[in-house]
Amino acid sequence: MNAISCQVIAIEALTPVISKVLLKPAQTTGFVAGQYLQLCLTADDKRPFSIASIPGQDYLELHIGAPAGDNWSSAALLHLQQAFNQGAAVQVEVGLGHAGWREHSERPVILLAGGTGFSYVHSIAMALAAAKQDKPVFLYWGVRQEEALYYQTELQQWAASNAKYSFIPVVQEPNAAWQGRSGLVHEAILQDFVSLEAYDIYIAGPFAMAGVAREAFTEQGAHREQMFADAFAYI
Ligand SMILES: Cc1cc2nc3c(=O)[nH]c(=O)nc-3n(C[C@H](O)[C@H](O)[C@H](O)COP(=O)(O)OP(=O)(O)OC[C@H]3O[C@@H](n4cnc5c(N)ncnc54)[C@H](O)[C@@H]3O)c2cc1C
Repeated sequence: MNAISCQVIAIEALTPVISKVLLKPAQTTGFVAGQYLQLCLTADDKRPFSIASIPGQDYLELHIGAPAGDNWSSAALLHLQQAFNQGAAVQVEVGLGHAGWREHSERPVILLAGGTGFSYVHSIAMALAAAKQDKPVFLYWGVRQEEALYYQTELQQWAASNAKYSFIPVVQEPNAAWQGRSGLVHEAILQDFVSLEAYDIYIAGPFAMAGVAREAFTEQGAHREQMFADAFAYI
């Protein structure tokens, strides 16, 4: 696949450990909502990041979690920061993965994000809204602490824009003031749906979450060919 040159337009903190990065590609990019890109640190060292934006937008948006001690994503963020400081371009390969939005499916949709897996479901949620698809969409976003719900306001607005859209944040370790759902995010889905048979289910987050969700959802009626996650290729 040919790499595309991009200028790093902005890097801003979404939380103390998650950064939003905007890239401006030098040429038109071809991808489907929910696909990922690879940031080329060198010719042999390429790191995948979900594209949070949708096709047709001027910028590619990334959400990169780089907690202390995580060299995998910290090195990618450092590479982007250096390019930003120097006004240099970075190279990306765009339009990867097999878990992109099935635009022509008529089934209702469940979007499951764990942590920065949110980037992936954000793209699909925005694409559904831009296409004005009028079918039920349930977006579940699980995080360890409430502070990690960095796009909560935007998602509340997304849900308010269509009576068939629902946004359900789920906090694993809530503080006393949290009024919403708590626990593991895939378990919230299991509690809310008697059967998952009718749904297209899109999943992104820690590989361990993707694995347990696939097994538990299958037991609750979900069809394997209607569950989509690039993590499945890694587990
Ligand atoms: C194709 C691809 C694309 C990627 N894109 C990105 C990207 O855009 N940005 C990025 O930072 N990283 C990306 N990664 C790396 C990796 O997927 C993320 O680092 C990972 O999703 C980060 O999760 P977290 O630490 O934010 O979640 P955590 O904070 O660890 O967990 C969030 C929630 O997930 C659930 N959960 C976590 N662990 C479990 C478990 N064992 N069992 C059940 N539920 C669990 C819980 O509800 C928890 O609250 C990508 C990897 C691949 C392969």
